[in-house]
Amino acid sequence: MIRFENITKRYNDTAVVSDFNLVINKGEFFVLIGPSGSGKTTTLKMINKLIKLSEGTLFIEEKKISEYDIQELRWNIGYVLQQIALFPNMTVEENITIVPEMKKWSKEDMHNRVTELLESVDLDPEKYRGRKTSELSGGEQQRIGVLRALAADPDIILMDEPFSALDPITRNSLQQDVMKLQRKFKKTVVFVTHDMQEAIQLGDRICVMNQGRIEQVGTADEILKKPANDFVEEFLRTGLPYYDGEKTVKTFIEKGFYTKDESFFEETLNLSDSLDDLILALARVNTLKVITDKEPLYISREQLIHYFADDIDAKEQEEKA
Ligand code: ADP
Repeated sequence: MIRFENITKRYNDTAVVSDFNLVINKGEFFVLIGPSGSGKTTTLKMINKLIKLSEGTLFIEEKKISEYDIQELRWNIGYVLQQIALFPNMTVEENITIVPEMKKWSKEDMHNRVTELLESVDLDPEKYRGRKTSELSGGEQQRIGVLRALAADPDIILMDEPFSALDPITRNSLQQDVMKLQRKFKKTVVFVTHDMQEAIQLGDRICVMNQGRIEQVGTADEILKKPANDFVEEFLRTGLPYYDGEKTVKTFIEKGFYTKDESFFEETLNLSDSLDDLILALARVNTLKVITDKEPLYISREQLIHYFADDIDAKEQEEKA
């Protein structure tokens, strides 16, 4: 468990993280997300004391980080960065076993650990262990970087935009690997990204940050269904091409796409049903009835098409402007 209690970090007189209170549970995949400069990396680096906090208390397993020996703390926390710094002239095995070597593991234990780790991401140990890391592709290097962070079996892994420099296919495959590894080895992962799709895919919980403060913490589902404020909603809208906010049948009606004339209807919806429900219903039937406080209203499939046509029109106007 990692617990931030009233944490503030200042540079000179400027707070870049303020009044930060947060509990990250053991074994949780926790994502910190926010725009550039919102304090994500600063928050992450306070955990392994790469950055010293200005005020407040940070606990790992009920012990204040100020009471940890720095060596002990760093060895027990794996760290993966965007530009992984593998040693190019050393082999894959030597790179992975840097921390186990410092912890004086036996040769046999290190050998077995490398076998286990390479196999867990479907890299053939006998083919890969002796290769120089400079001969590997970017994706393979990043994969080795992740394994290196796991090598000495730390409880916590910190990852700072580890995949943002990779092409989408390699990136996706590493995301899958990291999820698999986290489940297999049951680590607490704190993962920084500015990519909402990545956050949704990976995070058990997501913390949305802005200007050094927490805007919302919750599961992807909670955040998508109920953004805490305008900032979060806007962040979702710009980060997720398919995100359409909390649009409901009511939104549709408010835009005037309905008729009051009693029509032949085959299904009924409520004002609070989602836009998705409306689309699904009108894929099945031509017209449906909407229950309101007053008289019922009717929506046709044609009106749905007009609604989307207006939407496309509005977006095109926006792009031109
Ligand atoms: P993020 O990871 O969300 O992009 P950071 O945690 O890197 O944000 O930075 C948060 C803020 O702290 C930024 O405004 C950045 O300019 C500032 N900052 C980071 N490091 C320093 C430093 N060493 N001195 C002064 N300001 C810094």
